Amino acid sequence: MPNHDQDPLIKFHKVNKTYDGKTFVVCDLCLDIYKGEFLALLGPSGSGKSTTLGMLAGFEHPSSGSITLAGKSLQDIPTHKRKFGMVFQNYSLFPHMTVMENIIFPLRMQGISRKDACRLGQSALEMVDLGDPGMGTRKPDQLSGGQQQRIALARALVFEPLVILFDEPLGALDKRLREQMQLELRQIHRRLGVTMVFVTHDQSEALTMADRVAVFNEGKIQQIASPMQLYDAPDTAFVASFVGENNKLGAKVIHSQGNNCNVELHDGSRGEGLSPHHLSPEVSVVLVIRPERVVVSPGEGYRNRYRGRVNEVIELGDQTRLRLDVAGNEEFLVKIPRTHGAPEYRVGQDLFVGWRSQDCRVLRA
Ligand code: ADP
Repeated sequence: MPNHDQDPLIKFHKVNKTYDGKTFVVCDLCLDIYKGEFLALLGPSGSGKSTTLGMLAGFEHPSSGSITLAGKSLQDIPTHKRKFGMVFQNYSLFPHMTVMENIIFPLRMQGISRKDACRLGQSALEMVDLGDPGMGTRKPDQLSGGQQQRIALARALVFEPLVILFDEPLGALDKRLREQMQLELRQIHRRLGVTMVFVTHDQSEALTMADRVAVFNEGKIQQIASPMQLYDAPDTAFVASFVGENNKLGAKVIHSQGNNCNVELHDGSRGEGLSPHHLSPEVSVVLVIRPERVVVSPGEGYRNRYRGRVNEVIELGDQTRLRLDVAGNEEFLVKIPRTHGAPEYRVGQDLFVGWRSQDCRVLRA
């Protein structure tokens, strides 16, 4: 795991980027990246992830602000001198070259002898589990999509870069292969400990692989945290809806003390939850509750306890999903593990649901 007590390896300080001089696609970005970490930049299309990665790579230049690597400005350092490995979605392998020629291409460009380059190339192939004899002499079109992507990774690893940058590298693969590659990349990262910065719009991909995830929206980082923190304690309504499933209920603040916040829901009922920020009375908020944290038929002791009506029952083998009408939200979702002797539910049934205050986030609407 990266050591956050050390100085960051890479530092974005108040970085802005505009392409047209009017719209800022990256706004006032401050981001620390630590040596050895796997950082995912996650967000919807157009949120500024690739532009951020591009500025780190040197393809783009900040309109203002600074980016430093080990304390030194990257401002005047061109892409090829930054010595970052890069892996993109379209592999960018040269079709007329063999696998080995592709991998050693960056080394040959640096003037390393063919013999030395091939030795390093073979060890890079082994790092991505493609060290079998004969692999190096194949052409890219004789490989599967997953193998081509691993060759692209081997080419990025071959010169032992300080950092590897990935821009949606698994986007072209089918679901099963993509999931397999996610686990493999994670293992390669664990084994080699090289710093990785990975752009994706797929939240499950980011959560599966990364040590930390920076969630982007409209050119700003909404939250940067470990996958579990993002899931359990989203800081904003955007993060809560972008990462995993969540129920939302509109409310306003009655009173808050420390993180504890008492609210009134739109239907007049009362509730309680935790807020990451101090919220003043009357502020409009949204309560956010994960479907698996909702308890059906909670005890009287629950501070959050509401009447619900079942709108839909979906049996999924391992779980039952109920769609309920709760406090004016007709899409309120509850996930219940299907265990032996679990009760059956039917459409139209009235029941009570509840959740613990610590399972309910109170976020600015
Ligand atoms: P993401 O990677 O999150 O999808 P991008 O960084 O690619 O987002 O894009 C952010 C915004 O910048 C988008 O509105 C996009 O259209 C715009 N943009 C990206 N590259 C360019 C460019 N070279 N010229 C002009 N606008 C661009």
